[in-house]
Amino acid sequence: MRRILPIILLGIFTPAWLLCQNIYLTQGTDGSNAAAFTGVVWNQGGQQLWVAPEAPHTDAMLLATDPWSDNHEVVLFSLAQSFDPGKLNPDVPGQLLWNYGQTALFRVSHENFVTLREKIHGVVKRVPRQTAQTPKTVIPAVDTNQLVYEIVDLVDTAKIMATIRRLEAFKTRKAMTDSAYAASEWIGQQFEDMGYQIEYQNFNIYGSPSSPNVIATKTGTAYPDKYVVIGGHYDSYTYFGNAPGADDNASGTAGVIEAARILADYPTECSIIFCAFSGEEYGLFGSEAFVARCKQQEMNILGYFNLDMIGYRHPGDDIHTDMIYPLSAKPLADYYKEIAAIFVPELGVFDGFLTGGDSDHTSFNNHGYMGIFPFEDDQNYSPYIHSAQDVTGLSVNSAEMAGMLTQASLAGVSSMGGVFTYASAGEADGSTSLRLIPNPATDKVRIVAPGMKSDIHVQVVAPDGRTVIATRLQGADKVLSVAHLSRGIYIVRLTDGTVAAESKMMKW
Ligand SMILES: [Zn+2]
Repeated sequence: MRRILPIILLGIFTPAWLLCQNIYLTQGTDGSNAAAFTGVVWNQGGQQLWVAPEAPHTDAMLLATDPWSDNHEVVLFSLAQSFDPGKLNPDVPGQLLWNYGQTALFRVSHENFVTLREKIHGVVKRVPRQTAQTPKTVIPAVDTNQLVYEIVDLVDTAKIMATIRRLEAFKTRKAMTDSAYAASEWIGQQFEDMGYQIEYQNFNIYGSPSSPNVIATKTGTAYPDKYVVIGGHYDSYTYFGNAPGADDNASGTAGVIEAARILADYPTECSIIFCAFSGEEYGLFGSEAFVARCKQQEMNILGYFNLDMIGYRHPGDDIHTDMIYPLSAKPLADYYKEIAAIFVPELGVFDGFLTGGDSDHTSFNNHGYMGIFPFEDDQNYSPYIHSAQDVTGLSVNSAEMAGMLTQASLAGVSSMGGVFTYASAGEADGSTSLRLIPNPATDKVRIVAPGMKSDIHVQVVAPDGRTVIATRLQGADKVLSVAHLSRGIYIVRLTDGTVAAESKMMKW
């Protein structure tokens, strides 16, 4: 009896999305770009595609019942021209579920997925069985630390352009080619030279090995278990010949590498992960592999900043970004808007939405994290992508824009990750300058006291003069728990027996 009890419970409590997910078409009245949260996976011209267990509206038309069953994938293609089912080559695998204008929805078996992707010439969006999940993340307040200004100023557009040209020189970075593997090693070497721990994460695209994700990690000093992630895909795509992929997406990869270069010199409270993903052009396979593992390990990811196509400026346009995100990631999008207004005020930030294709932020959103995608332009993006003409000069035509989009995400990562430095600590006269990070503090505070011995005595004095903490801290990393203190201003006094220092700490 006991053995069958859990099975019965599972039957009762299985969430609806596990039971059956269908695809519906509605003549939508909701023009929201943030629709993925509610199950809308595509939205254009008043029509919407939904992933839902039941009809979302009375007028909804059922297109497919649980099309993911029996190891099948559902793929939405957006083509350069109107899709004509009559001209569909009979050797194209899969089943056409629906088409409209330049959009076509296919169901295909996993084993035929790669063949289908290579035979239909369009950008892909894999339609997930499970759409964006409500995140538990609490986005911290924007940190206007002076250091963030300093960091933003260090972005070097010449370095970004040099990286783009170097990645172009691999000729093609299509995920399954040798040159993509070579590119992954080059990227890994850059991270390694900056002093990061790196990992090559291997994964398959339905049985075909892909060049790996390249992951560089910077461990946080105060909150190593909290992560801020910045990334972009380095793989490229074309239907014929070479895929230099300068804008899509050597540009974003170069922005991530530039952010890593600068942050290498700045300790951060939280851990920062720099990702160069692969397999994006086949349908986010690399980021999906990465985020699925993060989710499985229950990693606390505060936010993901996606860099994908940051170097093409439509002639005549002001430098701006159209931000792509589902409603579930709105707090992170708001954070970015605030950050950009403070640290990169010349950059216009608008809400945007994709009428085709997708990017790696979706993998984060689908697993209950927040991911945003500040895109170069949701309408007038580079017309040269996925062709041999995706090269610098033509397709990456604005180093300035690539620089500013890198700055905005870097400012976001630095602020959210809690950036600080030892450079300003330590006075010329040999005395110690004490820093408390963060200050104001909520649960933990990290004590930075250069010039002091590793063994120190800490005294925390309350506003009424009572000593509320008296303790010894040893080792290089000194973290004090202040969670139990009530709100107010405290004095923190340190001594190592020779040198003494004190500072105010605000607790809230
Ligand atoms: Zn891309």
